[in-house]
Amino acid sequence: MPSRKFADGEVVMGRWPGSVLYYEVQVTSYDDVAHLYTVKYKDGTELALKESELRSQSSFKPRKSQSSSSSPSRRSSSRSRSRSRSPGRPAKGRRRSASQSREHKDDKKKTIQETSLALLVLVVFKPSENNTKRYNGEPESTEKNDTSCIILEQKVKPDMEIKRVLEQYSLRPRKDDKKKEEIYSERKTFVAVKSIEKAPSKTKELEFGGRIGTFMMIFLLPATVFYLLLMCKQDDPSLLNFPPLPPLESLWDGRVFGVFLLWFFLQAIFYLLPIGKVVEGLPLSNGRKLQYRINGFYAFILTAAAIGILLYFQFELHYLYDHFMQFAVSAAVFSLALSIYLYVRSLKAPEEELAPGGNSGYFIYDFFTGHELNPRIGSFDLKYFCELRPGLMGWVVINLAMLLAEMKIHNLSMPSLSMILVNSFQLLYVVDALWNEEAVLTTMDITHDGFGFMLAFGDLVWVPFVYSLQAFYLVGHPTTITWPVAAAITVLNCIGYYIFRSANSQKNNFRRNPADPKLANLKFIPTATGKGLLVTGWWGFVRHPNYLGDIIMALAWSLPCGFNHILPYFYVIYFICLLVHREARDEHHCKQKYGLAWERYCQRVPYRIFPYIY
Ligand code: NDP
Repeated sequence: MPSRKFADGEVVMGRWPGSVLYYEVQVTSYDDVAHLYTVKYKDGTELALKESELRSQSSFKPRKSQSSSSSPSRRSSSRSRSRSRSPGRPAKGRRRSASQSREHKDDKKKTIQETSLALLVLVVFKPSENNTKRYNGEPESTEKNDTSCIILEQKVKPDMEIKRVLEQYSLRPRKDDKKKEEIYSERKTFVAVKSIEKAPSKTKELEFGGRIGTFMMIFLLPATVFYLLLMCKQDDPSLLNFPPLPPLESLWDGRVFGVFLLWFFLQAIFYLLPIGKVVEGLPLSNGRKLQYRINGFYAFILTAAAIGILLYFQFELHYLYDHFMQFAVSAAVFSLALSIYLYVRSLKAPEEELAPGGNSGYFIYDFFTGHELNPRIGSFDLKYFCELRPGLMGWVVINLAMLLAEMKIHNLSMPSLSMILVNSFQLLYVVDALWNEEAVLTTMDITHDGFGFMLAFGDLVWVPFVYSLQAFYLVGHPTTITWPVAAAITVLNCIGYYIFRSANSQKNNFRRNPADPKLANLKFIPTATGKGLLVTGWWGFVRHPNYLGDIIMALAWSLPCGFNHILPYFYVIYFICLLVHREARDEHHCKQKYGLAWERYCQRVPYRIFPYIY
């Protein structure tokens, strides 16, 4: 057993989790079993850190002089000063023609800000890596480092001062784009350095109830799907009226499985078509960016055309309704086989390609959450493909099949108003997701979660077969609603959609181009990573406004089914639980990423999803 390196009470430099920042900490205890040090930061935060996340203070080398041009913050800000203007910024000449004294004052203020921001950052990286040149262009300073690390700034600001600095940067009208660009050029630098320095480590904090929780979920999720579908088929789908189990052999049909495979591979062909633009995803832990083709909307149009042709040639789409359970079984079997394949191939994947959230070393946990972050066959990205294509479009096709089945079974010349609402609302949701396909690249599913059973089953089984529950329910349980009620539900759906779309767009646009003049009225808190946190607009209303909009829509999808049974409300109940849990996960990640700035954001925006409630 290796002995501990740092003693209780010793003051050392501790890394802030999930970042490249080192702060002064005091060792309070050591866990011999887990080999973790409990340390206390100056602001009182106590965390358990590994030995590799601690460094002695002497191993940090003081920076020679503040006035030197070598500070990365200075470099980046000077670069940004000479960079071409963003459309929202005044022309350079115009700025220059302003009074010299003001410019001087601004510069001075900026220097204070730069310095203070830089003081927050203690960047550590290995001298042997040529990448250091990429960082600050000063290889000589890195080569001198014989302790494997360099300190670019030595002093850590007291918390009050950090807060003051953040205050200065933040909450400033965004028309002052100069500051914003500086912050974002800082961000690029830090992201680059982070990429150089950071390699994914083992997942220590297990989610979803850990090994036992994930083991149970592998059985619980399919069981829930089959329970819901069996319930929906019953004349009286009351919760206590437990459905009889169908004979096992009735659940499998080779032809149905063939149709499922055909659907899956047809979508794969559409995905491979060289139409639509190719964009880059967010930087991976090794600094690399993967390329993604954005052609989901085209694939949707092609799918609609294919379905149109089938209907034209009298193909009975309600075949889907008649064999609904068998389709669900086929999809589940396929997703299980896919998950096994994904896990097996992940065993050969290099460490740096493993998912930050699915690399615990426990088979069941990693199998469930997904071990490999972006499994690809050539340029075919399996996770990205499954996220939006076969399942999401399958959901729309199932809804359409339910609509046709309703007309056929009840001998209707046109679908019921309830069915039209459910189909239209959900169609809008799917089309929106495909139209904004690029936005999926910044979601947790793509950036954090690996591709394993959770997402494979979720994308291919849960989404198409559970999200279509309202339409399925309406086939067997016709519900009449009046026009005024339909109008009220439509308004509710529109409100939800408006909040959902504008919140998502606001954040996506801000992440992609923080200097976008359209966002000039928004304020934000800068963070040590360089990314800002919006504190006005939708993201100043609650901390997850997009979830709020999504939940309002979920309610609007259930209301057309009336109030006879709770079954069609399963979606909205489950969805609230899912998003509350997801919100907690995201908060946890953001706290690790942004530290104090996140806490400050939480103070400014106290409610998570529901204003004045939660
Ligand atoms: P979000 O789009 O909510 O993104 C969360 C991230 O946004 C954070 O990790 C952080 O990332 C960034 N962020 C947080 N606060 C701020 C802020 N104040 N200013 C700027 N950036 C901020 O993540 P999801 O992937 O969970 O959701 C995407 C959409 O998908 C949502 O609309 C959700 O409702 C929907 N969804 C739908 C599901 C369904 O089954 N129908 C399931 C799950 C989600 P960073 O700082 O790193 O950029």
